[in-house]
Amino acid sequence: MGNGNGGSKDPILIVGGGIGGLAAALMLSKSGHDVIVLEKAAEFAEIGAGLQLAPNATRVLTSLDVMDKIHDVGVFPHRLRIKTALTDENLTYLDLGDGFIQRYGAPYVVMHRNDLLRILLEGCQEQPTAVLLTSKEVKTVDSDPDRVVATCADGTVYRGKALIGADGLWSTTRKLLSDDVPINSGYVSYRGTVPTDRAIAHAPLDEVVAWIGPGLHYVQYPLRSGNLYNQVAVFRSDQYLKGMKDWGNSEELEEKLSVTCEHIRKAMPLLGRDHRWPMYDREPIGRWTIGNITLLGDAAHPMLQYLAQGACQAIEDAFAIGTAFNLESVDVNKALTMYEQARIPRTARVQRNARLWGDMWHIDGAGRLMRDELFSMRDPDDHSHIEWLYGKRDPLVVSD
Ligand SMILES: Cc1cc2nc3c(=O)[nH]c(=O)nc-3n(C[C@H](O)[C@H](O)[C@H](O)COP(=O)(O)OP(=O)(O)OC[C@H]3O[C@@H](n4cnc5c(N)ncnc54)[C@H](O)[C@@H]3O)c2cc1C
Repeated sequence: MGNGNGGSKDPILIVGGGIGGLAAALMLSKSGHDVIVLEKAAEFAEIGAGLQLAPNATRVLTSLDVMDKIHDVGVFPHRLRIKTALTDENLTYLDLGDGFIQRYGAPYVVMHRNDLLRILLEGCQEQPTAVLLTSKEVKTVDSDPDRVVATCADGTVYRGKALIGADGLWSTTRKLLSDDVPINSGYVSYRGTVPTDRAIAHAPLDEVVAWIGPGLHYVQYPLRSGNLYNQVAVFRSDQYLKGMKDWGNSEELEEKLSVTCEHIRKAMPLLGRDHRWPMYDREPIGRWTIGNITLLGDAAHPMLQYLAQGACQAIEDAFAIGTAFNLESVDVNKALTMYEQARIPRTARVQRNARLWGDMWHIDGAGRLMRDELFSMRDPDDHSHIEWLYGKRDPLVVSD
């Protein structure tokens, strides 16, 4: 890849070394751009467990030359299946086999978050133009037309020609552009992994399965070459609605999921309880860029996880920003403008659809019966609802 950006050799600063920040660092440094990643944690690490990566993300990961390593630790499930949480009935499925891979040009992968982060990190470490720093909490960002200055909590100062705020849901960088705050959905998630031999009686080993029900859902899939088993439980917290401080605790988890089918109730004792994730998103915003500063990943477009696309969209962002910086005769401002113009409509659509998808999963009453009927009637080969999301696209095309 060429380095077409006519700007100076000053580095591009990336605030945040999560999946989005490291994917951007890899994309840019592979093309010869100097990058400095400033990560506030003492090490590059992810908490949580599994991650689903759809072909819109694995196509990018292929172009970043990391798919061989992903093959070593990922799992390539045969189907995505949706069942009812109350009665364990099959509603519909999506075949992820050869036809799917051919159609989208890349596979559907499930893997441990930390494995993906490690693979991206190792990719960056192989690039002479990437500098990766931990224990660097960026406190302030200032800019003038030619450069941007990030000051860290330890007093160190970094200068660059552009800055990418990849600092997640509670982004400091976003505050330069918007005074909005994350929106609490009132749903909470518990997730974790167990060795597969402990889970085997409860576990479909070649599928990602989501059991959906009124105000809750449960997801299972294998990880790490099938040696680990990932489980996620999500429910709407009544305690949150009542304004209780300790809302969504493990007692409420037990109570909420006590109405589910035997399969889920038997699997629940193996579910991780040591950490709970209240689930937030934000409204899409109309601009991500101010001068030579822009946003990427959850800092730009945090979404509810129901389409399993937050990290996938961050990876798409990384590809788009790298592509923009690589165009010939494009200066920093032009590259950032092209990037945000292409990415904002697309990611806003994903954010909105993630909420809708959650509403559809969690509906009750007549709506639930109608949804079940419609899902059951769906032709498993019908891709019309996902083509826009998984299908091949130009990273800088301006359309949703
Ligand atoms: C329950 C759940 C399940 C999910 N499942 C999926 C899935 O299956 N597929 C999928 O694609 N997505 C999924 N997601 C979404 C996905 O996890 C996120 O969208 C993705 O991790 C966002 O990556 P990021 O790099 O943008 O942000 P983050 O992962 O939040 O990384 C931000 C980084 O910035 C650092 N940072 C923050 N502030 C500063 C600062 N001031 N200075 C320096 N560093 C800073 C943080 O320490 C962190 O390392 C799920 C989310 C949840 C909650």
